[in-house]
Amino acid sequence: NLPTVFVITPTFKRFVQKAELTRVYQALKPVKNLHWIVVEDAINKTDLVANFLRTSGLKHTHLNVRTPDILRRHRNEMRRMKPRGVVQRNLGVQWLRENIDPHRTSGVIYFADDDNTYDSKIFDEMRWIRGVGVWPVAFTGAARWAGPLCKNGKVVGFHAKWGRFRPFPIDMAAFAVNLRKLLIDFPNAKFVAVEKPGMLESSLLSQITKVEQLEPVTPNCSKVYVWHTRTETPRDSILGEKQLIKKGMPS
Ligand code: UDP
Ligand code: MN
Repeated sequence: NLPTVFVITPTFKRFVQKAELTRVYQALKPVKNLHWIVVEDAINKTDLVANFLRTSGLKHTHLNVRTPDILRRHRNEMRRMKPRGVVQRNLGVQWLRENIDPHRTSGVIYFADDDNTYDSKIFDEMRWIRGVGVWPVAFTGAARWAGPLCKNGKVVGFHAKWGRFRPFPIDMAAFAVNLRKLLIDFPNAKFVAVEKPGMLESSLLSQITKVEQLEPVTPNCSKVYVWHTRTETPRDSILGEKQLIKKGMPS
């Protein structure tokens, strides 16, 4: 039986949201046994995301939780000091704990932000991870790529130009966790938001694994299948077009 890939994606309303979701959806679409858990950072679920998921044809779960005010970035605060998508990812894991029986379902959990670019191949590679699997991600760690250095099926070090002090100097998109690890072995593990840049990944991983236990993927960390792309915010003209929406703008 093919293990299920559970993909947890935090998302929030902005002009490029549908473009982002479309790019992720197109990477997920050819993948077998995949369940997409989309968690909106919002008080209420939006029609845009609900309609998008309904017409996607993907197996999905639509959740929402608004980031509490203390975790939101306020004006003048440095963007790196407040990690984003924290309560959304934790809610996705909580949903799995309450709705999936890990004794009947085997699988892995992956945290896929909506702005990254994914090669569909990564999902079939991560499917077989038994504990915590890792691989390189491009355009993170202030480098062309950052992530694990692997040799003979073991992680022997990490490549990054920034953040080497971190216990696990890897990106959110650089690892996946076996379902049983988060549902059976560590039923209370979760992401913890601290006001120190780049620590979110380590906050979860240090609760559930050790560097020596990490499983290299892609294989042996040899390929980049994920790019930490960031979409530019469209400006100027769009902002003055609100009235057109009422007149029946294409959606
Ligand atoms: N996100 C969110 N609420 C926000 C900002 C971001 O839910 O207020 C989501 C976003 O859609 C993405 C994830 O959280 O899936 C990480 O955000 P971002 O890509 O801005 O973080 P970075 O890649 O810069 O760490
Ligand atoms: Mn991002």
